[in-house]
Amino acid sequence: MHQMYEILKNNLEGEVLWQEPMKNQTTFHIGGPVDILIIPNSIKDLRQALGILKSMEAPIMIMGAGSNLLVSDKGIRGVVIKIGPGFDEIKTVKKLLICGAGVTLTAISRQAQKAGLTGLEFAVGIPGSVGGALVMNAGAYGGEISQVLKTATVLDRDGDKKTYANQDLHFGYRHSRFLEEDLIVLEATFELQSGNKKEILKKMQELTEQRRSKQPIEHFCAGSVFKRPPNNYVGPLIEKAGLKGFRIGGAEVSKKHAGFIVNVDNATCEDVLSLIKLIQKTIKEKEGIVLEPEIRVVGEI
Ligand SMILES: Cc1cc2nc3c(=O)[nH]c(=O)nc-3n(C[C@H](O)[C@H](O)[C@H](O)COP(=O)(O)OP(=O)(O)OC[C@H]3O[C@@H](n4cnc5c(N)ncnc54)[C@H](O)[C@@H]3O)c2cc1C
Repeated sequence: MHQMYEILKNNLEGEVLWQEPMKNQTTFHIGGPVDILIIPNSIKDLRQALGILKSMEAPIMIMGAGSNLLVSDKGIRGVVIKIGPGFDEIKTVKKLLICGAGVTLTAISRQAQKAGLTGLEFAVGIPGSVGGALVMNAGAYGGEISQVLKTATVLDRDGDKKTYANQDLHFGYRHSRFLEEDLIVLEATFELQSGNKKEILKKMQELTEQRRSKQPIEHFCAGSVFKRPPNNYVGPLIEKAGLKGFRIGGAEVSKKHAGFIVNVDNATCEDVLSLIKLIQKTIKEKEGIVLEPEIRVVGEI
């Protein structure tokens, strides 16, 4: 593996890190080291990395901002490619907003507002990248990526580029084609509507305030831990079960919003997984409801 690291380091323009602690790369601040972390600085660099890795048959995982990931304490064997700063172009052309997969959701929301385009207000404050948001079909306050996305340009693991229309991306609630196939999101085109800049800004400010007052953004976390079950809400279910504030090790069911688990004191992945299992068991017993995780648990268990 170290030999592979040397080859990558000598042949790529972007960053290549050896044994990078994943707790430094995720909003949960949890996770052991990944053998090799690559942060390509362009599509060319990404293709070059894929070419080298293909000849070596290394396991590869793609990440964006790491805001929906729970990484195991032993870390990740193989290679993680982070789609970030090298993929940060953003422009508007009439009612289209075109951006790289590494741009943050807050940045696209702000850019749309400046251009007087409405449709992306919901995305302000979601701490993910556009790539991760397409994968998860991120959404909030009635809005969802799939409602505004026109096309996505991707690379497959052979380095071939392709553009998919929205209807070919199998969007569902926190689901997309990217969870079914190994595709790397490079770029997204959003189709928005003309709107009033002041009204768009007001909506964004309201949603930001709602987030600040209802979500534990002052703590390390990965957003909602579970998907919303049909006709129900996770937070109230957990609260009713008496688990709000319950703690295992350094992980706690948020006292502000029971749908979040927060890392209050150097939590391990094991702490969070134990808490997840306890919540699932309790809610199944008390309510007969199966809670399915929304966060992606990755790495060597
Ligand atoms: C405080 C807080 C609030 C949140 N609020 C919301 C919310 O309101 N609504 C919501 O939906 N989510 C929310 N989230 C969760 C998270 O921000 C979203 O799921 C976001 O879309 C994840 O994007 P990311 O770039 O961080 O992806 P990551 O966490 O890095 O990765 C998530 C998944 O996407 C894949 N992936 C990432 N980038 C790419 C790419 N370029 N190509 C292919 N695969 C890729 C990864 O392999 C992984 O499977 C919140 C999180 C936090 C911490």
